[in-house]
Amino acid sequence: MMKQALGFLASLIVIIIAFGIWAWNSETAQDWMLEKAVTAEMARPASMDSYEGLKVFLCGTSSPMPARGRAQACIAVLAGESLYLVDAGAGSAQVATLGRLPLERLEAVFLTHFHSDHIAALPEFNLNSWVAGRPKPMTVYGPDGVSEVVDGLNTAYRLDSTYRVAHHGEELLPPELGVMQAQLMEVGTVLEMGALSITSFLVNHDPIRPAVGYRFDYRGRSVVISGDTTITPGLIEAAAGADLLLQDSLSLPIIETLEQASAGTRFGKILHEFQNYHAHTSDLSDLVEQSGVQQLALYHLVPPPQNALFKKIFSRELPKGTVLTEDGMMFELPAASDDVLRIDP
Ligand SMILES: [Zn+2]
Ligand SMILES: [Zn+2]
Repeated sequence: MMKQALGFLASLIVIIIAFGIWAWNSETAQDWMLEKAVTAEMARPASMDSYEGLKVFLCGTSSPMPARGRAQACIAVLAGESLYLVDAGAGSAQVATLGRLPLERLEAVFLTHFHSDHIAALPEFNLNSWVAGRPKPMTVYGPDGVSEVVDGLNTAYRLDSTYRVAHHGEELLPPELGVMQAQLMEVGTVLEMGALSITSFLVNHDPIRPAVGYRFDYRGRSVVISGDTTITPGLIEAAAGADLLLQDSLSLPIIETLEQASAGTRFGKILHEFQNYHAHTSDLSDLVEQSGVQQLALYHLVPPPQNALFKKIFSRELPKGTVLTEDGMMFELPAASDDVLRIDP
């Protein structure tokens, strides 16, 4: 009896394997599986539908130092129905698109400064949101210099835009919506839309001037994005009482070890110069204490930690509960609540 059952089971396994091999190699079965997979992917809901509160999505958590699986600085904020970006570093548009951000609702991009690791993906965001059906031109806010950056990118990508329109037609891609608009902003209130208020504040990223950070306030919830900066009284003031602070951060123990290992080289000199214009992890406890921020989350990681040991060292001296962010991570701050919910990628 036992022998018969085992024989039956073995035959069943052989039949299943044979069917699997046939299906894998059969074009009919491949087409069926492809159709099912594509339909399921298309039906996947956008990760940031309109929301009563603030949602924050990390499109890029790295600094100029390259890291597998990390794009350069970019943070998306959804307030109600509207989507905003702070910075657009290299690779971040892919993370945003794969994360199914509703780019057709992209209201504006806010630049903290014009280092390449904060602006390189502007043309890709412009193209992707244009294709997604954004109903007005992509507005790029920034301090003095924003027009030079935006006008230059528009010039560099003018031919690409004309190719897209020629190929897909003006009805699908109205030409005027493919041209980015620069918007010079002053420090202070940048935008007020209904219950949403976006303010900017000066930071210290010398010798890069001006450099700013941004604060979003919406229905009693608040998110502050530091931009690249050391810790300054202005940053502490801007972050006062905020629910969530996304903070530029540098690990001195790691950077000093890298610097020693590359002493006498060009890279060693650059590593040394990194140290004076980013916030050191050892100073962040004081920042949290003085500002009263509820949740500290680190991004623009210098250097981006690539394994458990690096993360452990990067986390030294940090306030308890600090989050080292990763690309694709999301925070939810529901209105009428004190919760800061983290959703891992
Ligand atoms: Zn940077
Ligand atoms: Zn910078």
